[in-house]
Amino acid sequence: MKGVVLLGDRALEIRESPDPTPGPGEVVLEIKASGMCGSDLKYYRARGGAAALGFKTQNGPVIAGHEPCGVVVATGPGVSPREARIGQRVMQHHYRGCGVCPQCATGWMQLCVEGVAEVYGATGHGAHARYMKCPARTLVPLPDALSFDAGAAVSCGTGTAWGALRRLGLSGDQTIAVFGQGPVGLSATLLATELGARVIALDTCEERLERAGAFGADVLINPTKSDDVVERIRDLTHGLGADVAIDASASPTARAQAVRCLRTWGKACYVGEGDSVTLDVSNDLLRRQITLIGSWTFSTVGQADCARFVADRSIDLDRLFTHRWLLDQAAEAYRLFDQQSSGKGVIHPS
Ligand SMILES: [Zn+2]
Ligand SMILES: [Zn+2]
Repeated sequence: MKGVVLLGDRALEIRESPDPTPGPGEVVLEIKASGMCGSDLKYYRARGGAAALGFKTQNGPVIAGHEPCGVVVATGPGVSPREARIGQRVMQHHYRGCGVCPQCATGWMQLCVEGVAEVYGATGHGAHARYMKCPARTLVPLPDALSFDAGAAVSCGTGTAWGALRRLGLSGDQTIAVFGQGPVGLSATLLATELGARVIALDTCEERLERAGAFGADVLINPTKSDDVVERIRDLTHGLGADVAIDASASPTARAQAVRCLRTWGKACYVGEGDSVTLDVSNDLLRRQITLIGSWTFSTVGQADCARFVADRSIDLDRLFTHRWLLDQAAEAYRLFDQQSSGKGVIHPS
């Protein structure tokens, strides 16, 4: 089969490898949709690829893609029908841990106390290929109402937004500021709107802001055109500030603003990876009783919850995708994604 390998420094290759066969406890998926996530862009850009960002692999670069969604086509020895059935539509929780420690047992394999064994698409072969092998315990059933594309979105970007909103405990009477309207931020805008909250969406790209408006954001702010973002958010909230905020941009400026735009007792959540932030601890945090949360994706249980919420509310996640690509178009797909102005892309390997 062919698989897309991100080499770093904006280079990628489509490499041939044997079709995988499942070992004990494993399954092989035929991938129907493999989403492109902001982290993939980091691996694509970094000199040395994912390894340069601390994801060390044993045997060199791996097949990319960590938003896997498809159908079970083979099961290995010891996989019970309750874990996986041939023909079953599934998403994959893209981490492998020991499977038995308290974190793994509660569905948080990325937090495995033994150290996460595999991050699929970064240290283990991911979903930018026709087939993908993984432990049956990493599968999350895909509700019938969700397309494979929607399942791919839930498998990282949208699921990450969901995880952050749950950590923040967002309720429908609140105002949330969402910094960054890429795939994760836009998902946060969409889900927060569905939860009934008032959304203030921020992005430096007009095209992305417009899309946030179409996805339900009540107020759109372009920080490059606004004198004082924090003041503006205060003006929009009776001088109090937002109840909660998410930073999905990873911009140090936006991160500081996500804290400073909050009302007293407010909560901010960081989901954007990389870079840093500078805060004045006393004035920005302590004296305003601010809660600051770091949130890394979601558990298998959270992933299933997110998919159920999307299905029950008939949320059209397919709208997130502005581009659908064949495997052979991967170079073009990543070139466009690199411009960070479009919506989300998805690769259809089969
Ligand atoms: Zn573990
Ligand atoms: Zn991701």
